[in-house]
Amino acid sequence: MTNQYDMQDPRSQYPTPDIPEQTQPEPGLDKDMTPKADHGADSYTGHGRLKGRKALVTGADSGIGRAVALAFAREGADVAMSYLPAEQADADEAKAEIEQEGVHVVMLPADLTNEAAARGLPHEANKALGGLDIIVNNAGKQIFTDDFAKLPSDQLTKTFTVNVFAMFWICQEALQYLKPGSAIINTTSIQATMPSPGLLDYASTKGAILAFTRGLAQELTPKGIRVNAVAPGPVWTPLQPSHGQSQEKLTSFGQETPLGRPGQPAEMAPLYVFLASQESSYVSGETIGAAGGRLR
Ligand code: NAD
Ligand code: MG
Repeated sequence: MTNQYDMQDPRSQYPTPDIPEQTQPEPGLDKDMTPKADHGADSYTGHGRLKGRKALVTGADSGIGRAVALAFAREGADVAMSYLPAEQADADEAKAEIEQEGVHVVMLPADLTNEAAARGLPHEANKALGGLDIIVNNAGKQIFTDDFAKLPSDQLTKTFTVNVFAMFWICQEALQYLKPGSAIINTTSIQATMPSPGLLDYASTKGAILAFTRGLAQELTPKGIRVNAVAPGPVWTPLQPSHGQSQEKLTSFGQETPLGRPGQPAEMAPLYVFLASQESSYVSGETIGAAGGRLR
């Protein structure tokens, strides 16, 4: 447990973990990670900033999405959680944690590579929660490929489908429900502007998410709907040990940042809360980074 609020040295606020070599099939599970990620369960304190709001969060079973779903619930929002059926174990654990806040939580397992399933999510969330005013596009696929020439075509297609196309589909359908005051928050990455070798397909999707966020904001802000993005740096989540990095990079994950350690999902959630809440009323088309001091 880490205290998330008292003034302290950010270099030692969360551990610089001794990460052993490890591989999981994709999508990775939080329950099988060593060490486990910190989603803020023991530290995040809500202040009613999202009271009565209704949010759809994709990839809400683990990592950043789980921390966001938990923080939203602690701020008073009802939450629809989307994730892959293979992640039911993580999703069950996340739901149990979130439900302790006394908000309404619904589980919407779906594969976002299926257009009909992805388009269905906003409708299901709206129906189950009795409204919809926050969309967090957070689900993502990242497979490290050391030789660009050997990047498989089906991986290229799938990465773009999950990271980019599904975001288009979800936003298009959600428009039926989003009213002035609503917020869309997309998840880009430091990779959008500082791409690493081996992640070219992934980095390109994150560049597309950045352009999409800025462009959609131009269309929707005049209608009172704000669109923003969060750009995390290296954050310790199941994405990384499930072929998201080479083993070499995994064992020293995040240590190249000026803070010298990986970020934790708990450190990303406050950015999403800010962008979802009315506190960010004049912020649209922006990207907030959190990369341990690395420039993007
Ligand atoms: P994560 O593995 O915990 O979350 C990714 C989620 O994406 C999975 O839990 C899964 O539910 C979802 N997903 C993947 N494929 C899917 C599919 N076909 N259908 C439905 N859902 C699918 O990892 P995370 O790091 O928390 O990732 C969340 C977001 O943060 C991603 O968009 C990722 O690109 C972004 N991001 C992560 C980092 C990092 O270092 N971890 C850095 C920058 C950006
Ligand atoms: Mg997961």
